[in-house]
Amino acid sequence: MALPKKKLFIKTFGCQMNVADSQQMAQVLADDFEVTERPEEADLYLINTCAIRHKAEAKVQSLLGSLKALKQRRPQLILGVGGCVAQRQGEQLLTAVPHLDLVFGTHGIYRLPQLVRRAAYRPVAQVETAAGLAPSPRRHWAPGQVQALVTIMQGCDNFCTFCVVPYVRGREYSRPPGEIAAEVADFLAAGGKEVTLLGQNVNSYGRGLPQPITFPELLRRIGPLPGLARLRFTTSHPRDLSPELMAAFGELAPLCEHLHLPVQSGSDRILEAMHRGYGSREYLEKVAVLRRACPGLSLTTDLIVGFPGESEADFQATLDLMTAAAFDQAFSFKYSPRPQTRAATFADQVSEGVKTERLQRLQTLQEKFTLKAHERLVGQRREVLVEKLSKRSPEQLCGRLRTNQVVNFSGPPELVGRLVQVRIEQAHPHSLKGRWLADRPPAEGHHPEGAQGE
Ligand code: SAM
Ligand code: SF4
Repeated sequence: MALPKKKLFIKTFGCQMNVADSQQMAQVLADDFEVTERPEEADLYLINTCAIRHKAEAKVQSLLGSLKALKQRRPQLILGVGGCVAQRQGEQLLTAVPHLDLVFGTHGIYRLPQLVRRAAYRPVAQVETAAGLAPSPRRHWAPGQVQALVTIMQGCDNFCTFCVVPYVRGREYSRPPGEIAAEVADFLAAGGKEVTLLGQNVNSYGRGLPQPITFPELLRRIGPLPGLARLRFTTSHPRDLSPELMAAFGELAPLCEHLHLPVQSGSDRILEAMHRGYGSREYLEKVAVLRRACPGLSLTTDLIVGFPGESEADFQATLDLMTAAAFDQAFSFKYSPRPQTRAATFADQVSEGVKTERLQRLQTLQEKFTLKAHERLVGQRREVLVEKLSKRSPEQLCGRLRTNQVVNFSGPPELVGRLVQVRIEQAHPHSLKGRWLADRPPAEGHHPEGAQGE
């Protein structure tokens, strides 16, 4: 008789790439562990860390500190740290946190089962942060899973001067297209509906493969796979956004009308110091082409305030670019100096007070654009992929439009995982409220959602 499985709890910090890595961790450990949502019953507690900003790293340190008590209550508990902080700090983490059993970097996921087994039998902490390409084990898709994050490439070669990613995630490496297509086909065969392709810069996908292929070519290979209702990707670097990729938005039916295109700053001087490889004019020209190719496109971005040397005029240029681009949403951050990066050594660092004040002004401006974008949707009939029951009420469901906005509406729990039609009735700053159109069949085919207003 098989032994009952032990319990695995994973706390994930950071981006979708980390979420995908956590799913992979759960998969490689699935023979011995089942995932629990309750940390207090875990036999194995893994923290998947993020090193992108100091604040993210500090959160990990504070969680690790608080877990000392749990470890004392449950001495058999194996406590492990993986991801970007682990990759960056390796053995130092063990010195700083003696109650840790296991440290594994971004390349060590597939070796987790051996590491965990060794940690269980040996009193010596295990460290595995060697760089190297991790083979991707074949993914198993849980029945009922409708959304999949599929990593198509690892690492980054861009070396933006503020960014730690190339130092912790290593050189850029693309997975072969056949492997990606097979993984997506398996997911769709198991009933999946939405696929998000992940990479730090998907636009450079395929460089360096024995038979080079472009990212739009990969999209054209994935797009027609039977059963695929929604296709998304992130992140796209503005410099490498090709006319071919922009055209794909009007041409590939499952490709959702949403693009995340991080601009970081609106000042050409700052963009150059960031080593981004484009200027504000070029960025806005690409936005104009995209909007012509796909009039219903929702455009989101990332912005950094207080990069070294950013003057009030530079900051104003960022606000001007935001107004010109009219982003649907923006993720904005105070510049955080990161170890090894060039910008951390720049002389003219901006004070914390100025960063805080600029972030506030920027976010106030963005809130207006986000609300306006939401208000434009009121009265329209839209397709929603229902993701989950709302935390607030069991009768409330929560899903997303193709353009990625969150919609809450009343409906039976059986709708979770289905594509339904919803009339948008109210716009809120962070979400929409809708009414389920129970008797409406899905709209024929896929077309830019703006066309579905009635
Ligand atoms: N690869 C993506 C790109 O090129 O846009 C983004 C990767 S990063 C995980 C996500 C975002 O974090 C970036 O777009 C940037 O806005 C922000 N970020 C990265 N390094 C940062 C730093 N040192 N300080 C503040 N924000 C940072
Ligand atoms: Fe970091 Fe730039 Fe690479 Fe994005 S493109 S991961 S910001 S170095």
